[in-house]
Amino acid sequence: MHVAVLGAGTMGHGIAQVTAMADHEVVIRDVNPEFVEEGIESIEENLEGGIERDKVSREAADAALARIEGTTHLAEAVADADLVIEAVPEDLELKRDTLEDVEELVDDDAIIATNTSSLSVTEIASAADHDGRVIGLHFFNPVHIMDLVEIVVAEQTDDGTVATAHEFVEDIDKTAVEVTDTPGFASSRLGVALGVEAMRMVEEGVADPRDIDAAMELGYNHPMGPIELGDVVGLDVRLDILEYLREELGERFRPPQVLKRKVRAGKLGKKTGEGFYVWEDGEIVGVSGDVDGGDGDE
Ligand code: NAD
Repeated sequence: MHVAVLGAGTMGHGIAQVTAMADHEVVIRDVNPEFVEEGIESIEENLEGGIERDKVSREAADAALARIEGTTHLAEAVADADLVIEAVPEDLELKRDTLEDVEELVDDDAIIATNTSSLSVTEIASAADHDGRVIGLHFFNPVHIMDLVEIVVAEQTDDGTVATAHEFVEDIDKTAVEVTDTPGFASSRLGVALGVEAMRMVEEGVADPRDIDAAMELGYNHPMGPIELGDVVGLDVRLDILEYLREELGERFRPPQVLKRKVRAGKLGKKTGEGFYVWEDGEIVGVSGDVDGGDGDE
């Protein structure tokens, strides 16, 4: 299969890597040659890491790299593509414009997938003339490590597109779950529901964040507790998703005051050194003192 990946950022380079490792020809496109180069360098680094850990042979890594081409020209990227996967920034208008541009350049039977993590695939697909060919392929970060891909079926997606998406996900050695296009799909909706309840428990003084996280890690075998995960993802990102889910699905996703206060204070989690935990060199060194108070009202 010829696959075009649009966007060489965090997700795009990972998608290009796993696709090339499964013997597909890949063209990765970004708007600036430096971004293309950085994306390909990240793939090289990931593969080197895989070789060091004995997960990938040198021959397989070299062969995969030889199957990846980089470009800044959209027409060059998508001309021969059977499948186009867009991983451009999370902006509805940008994604709709990208889709329109791609449709003018690809074959009639090419499939176009979006890696959106939160936007309506149905709304993105409505920018296309042949909207039955549009589908969501929601990869997880880091793509070369995470096994899951959510196949998000839009209102317009036709059965042939769904079948091809399943074949592709199986082929790249990932596991698919199929979801109807609804806010938060399956993964974000459930993950965020757990995270928001855990924050409310901290706010109500039910338990220390470390104990809430340990309850899920040891009692439910989660690799990471919901409070720590919020800090790792970024509390600003969590808040944005909650606000969107509240608007779409109702009050059960109302963001707690404690979360809003932290975001307003710039305590965004691991990336700023403090969220619900205090972080140093990427490790938790304590619990933030500022987790009590507030009753969840606005
Ligand atoms: P990113 O900012 O790391 O990368 C986006 C890249 O797209 C940038 O390099 C940018 O220059 C490029 N770009 C912008 N306009 C473009 C265009 N018209 N054509 C080609 N490239 C263009 O973003 P990301 O984290 O990789 O996210 C990309 C998509 O994947 C978003 O929709 C995001 O919601 C989704 N997603 C992200 C994650 C995550 O954890 N980062 C997880 C799942 C899904």
